[in-house]
Amino acid sequence: MSFREKVVWITGASSGIGEALAIELARQGARLVLSARREDELRRVAGLAGILPDNLFILPLDMARPDDFPQLVQAVTARFGQIDYVFQNAGITQRGLVSETALPVFQQLFDVNFFGVVALTKAILPVMQQQGSGHFVVTSSVAGKIGTKMRSGYCATKHALHGFFDSLRAEVYEQGLRVTIVCPGYIRTPISLHALNAKGEKHGRMDDNQTKGMAPEVFARKLTRAVLRSKNEVYIGGYEVVGIYL
Ligand code: NDP
Repeated sequence: MSFREKVVWITGASSGIGEALAIELARQGARLVLSARREDELRRVAGLAGILPDNLFILPLDMARPDDFPQLVQAVTARFGQIDYVFQNAGITQRGLVSETALPVFQQLFDVNFFGVVALTKAILPVMQQQGSGHFVVTSSVAGKIGTKMRSGYCATKHALHGFFDSLRAEVYEQGLRVTIVCPGYIRTPISLHALNAKGEKHGRMDDNQTKGMAPEVFARKLTRAVLRSKNEVYIGGYEVVGIYL
């Protein structure tokens, strides 16, 4: 099993884990669809990864705009004819006590981290069912298994992904489709810079744990190996609390 010639769609490919995945999967010979909101950053990543034009489709999207997804899926199948893997990796986090965090902040977290992911999954599912193959890889977190202070909304969105994707796996396994839920520990990315505070404004600071976490390139290598082995759930990056260790 390898990613060579496979069509792999990565969301959140403009930064951090998604950027490292794009570079690693390009090295492994995949044909790549790179998505996020910032097209200029997607082009920067594609340049770093050295992806040949024939193997590259830059497809900006906003996870909070699910009405666009059916059209975007059509664009991918028109370009590459198939979708073998989708790494649903785009996500945002949060800092704030429950007592102080405004309700719209929870809604915004769910729109991006959960409902956007559900909508994109539903848009891609018929394509994979028709192929009789395909693999959903979703980035949850160790915060998808335990609750932590100041991150109730983020933890809730990641917990919700487990319920959704465990159920999807049960529905599609016999059809040849696979689902992998990924639970990173701390990975060195700018995620906390973009975290929402209690009012929904940007936090704008790097957390200590984030700066000391695993390098995203190492994470990407481990994750691609685990996905090729079709693991149901993987824990990578230190601070593992439960489950399978790589
Ligand atoms: P980054 O902030 O580096 O990357 C987040 C990515 O998500 C960016 O490419 C961003 O692109 C994209 N994104 C954010 N909002 C939207 C949106 N509305 N629509 C489309 N794309 C969006 O963080 P990480 O790489 O760390 O995070 C990737 C995933 O890993 C997330 O799901 C996160 O929860 C998870 N994770 C990260 C951990 C860590 O320690 N870093 C630990 C556990 C889980 P753009 O702004 O261009 O839209």
